[in-house]
Amino acid sequence: MLQEKLVLKELPNLQVPVQALNSNWFSAPFKKLDILRLDLLHPVISGNKWFKLRYNLDFAVHNGFKSVLTFGGGYSNHLIATAAAARFSGLKSIGMVRGDYSGKHKTRTLKDCEDYGMEIHYLNRDLYRQKSEPEFLKSISDKFSKPFIIPEGGAGEQGIKGAGEIARLIPAGYTHVCVSAGTGTTLAGLAGTLPENSSLLGFVPMKNGRYLKETVLKYLRAGTEKRIHWFDRWHFGGFGKYDKTLIAFMNEFYYQHQIPLDVIYTSKMMYGIRDLISEEFFGNNASVLCIHTGGLQGNISVKDKLDFKIPFRDL
Ligand SMILES: *Cc1c(COP(=O)(O)O)cnc(C)c1O
Repeated sequence: MLQEKLVLKELPNLQVPVQALNSNWFSAPFKKLDILRLDLLHPVISGNKWFKLRYNLDFAVHNGFKSVLTFGGGYSNHLIATAAAARFSGLKSIGMVRGDYSGKHKTRTLKDCEDYGMEIHYLNRDLYRQKSEPEFLKSISDKFSKPFIIPEGGAGEQGIKGAGEIARLIPAGYTHVCVSAGTGTTLAGLAGTLPENSSLLGFVPMKNGRYLKETVLKYLRAGTEKRIHWFDRWHFGGFGKYDKTLIAFMNEFYYQHQIPLDVIYTSKMMYGIRDLISEEFFGNNASVLCIHTGGLQGNISVKDKLDFKIPFRDL
């Protein structure tokens, strides 16, 4: 069990540093390039996950639910963040996992979820695909004594509302804000709350990830979609995939900036940003903010390849 119990701080008290990225790599002709270190919020409920969960958990607590149920893969940042945040909120948690990781196949992430008290159930891929269907949701709601159900990845209205509050941590004046997108919830939240004159760049770590554009559209206020640029070029083979180039990039980034990136999301985004800089995507007057959305526990599977430690337990 993680020793430090998180004191879930209310937003006005959150202190998250904005750091300048100064190195030969990112020396571009534009005004500034900074990174918002949401990864420093908490080692487990890290980055954007806390923002997406907070209104879901508030709702569950205030409406008398005893437990929350959600969905994720065997390495899911969302699942472990939910397990920890639910525990700290006094709620039981149930995790519906895609695929069978029982017995010796249990991942470190799932073991950690169980340490936080999460009850894990495995769903085969066909069942998992029904995760948003009302009939299926009703059947699991009945089966598990009516938990509050949080959609996969913390998506949905409550998640978007919470994610939108990340904007409060962003100082004024940036022309571009960059964020990695999995379900697109964080990006949708920011699209509703960032100042109108800043562009929003969404980096999708999935192959053919542009479909997210359509998924997210229904959550956007009319007109806001125009300022979003979607990129799905830097997927490195697909979600969860990586190669030597990406690992070398993560190590070099750490060497240059002393900032750890995660192998699933933020490394691919930063790699993309570096390419965009060399392609002169940003104009001379650009002030760019990258959001470090955390997720460092996901580096467990590549920890032996990295020159830096995972700030999570003693790994
Ligand atoms: C979950 C996660 C994302 C994706 O967030 P969405 O709101 O689902 O788009 C991005 N980065 C990191 C590090 C994550 O853990």
